Amino acid sequence: MDLISSLQEVTKLSHLYYSRQWMFATAGNLSTRDPSTKEQFWITASGKHKGELKVTDFVSVSASDGSLVQANEGLKPSAETSIHQVLYSQMPEVGSCLHVHTIDSNLLEFGVEKAEGYREIPIPPIEIIKAFGIWDEKPNLTMPVFYNHTHVPTIANEIKRYFTVEGIPKVPFLLIEGHGPTVWGKTIAEANKHLEAVHFLLQVMARRI
Ligand SMILES: [Zn+2]
Repeated sequence: MDLISSLQEVTKLSHLYYSRQWMFATAGNLSTRDPSTKEQFWITASGKHKGELKVTDFVSVSASDGSLVQANEGLKPSAETSIHQVLYSQMPEVGSCLHVHTIDSNLLEFGVEKAEGYREIPIPPIEIIKAFGIWDEKPNLTMPVFYNHTHVPTIANEIKRYFTVEGIPKVPFLLIEGHGPTVWGKTIAEANKHLEAVHFLLQVMARRI
């Protein structure tokens, strides 16, 4: 898939997620690795309404250091670009990262402390986790949940620390408490499949409280 087709696909998802109430107003951010230059990724620009996003509303950022590579005039990278940068740099096979703010994910409370930064939270062994490529009947799965620091690069640093200490998460997503999930996949389609499954999983978890 070329770059324009990739950006068109992500733009379509932005409109879809807006209609599902996953990206109200300017909330959330979506990105795709540049198919020709794997060294950079394209992410939704800051302050763009996700229901009206256009293919020109993306900026290009270096996957290795997060510096701005290319942007149309007046466009700035999203404040949460640092989180995408860590994910692309830690997982070279990842082609897309999607981050949304869903109501159900905000209903879940795990009490992750600021000082600890993150915590592993058990996931119920329900059918939907097969969407993550996990086929064990009763898997002992956990998901990483991070403290929602106001200073977003601090969250990104905690995610980097997680990868260093714990390795790559067994599930293709993480949750920032009181904020929302971020998923990844080899392709945009795979990341979208993961996000739909995460949404279902978090809905179930929120209803069990
Ligand atoms: Zn966010």
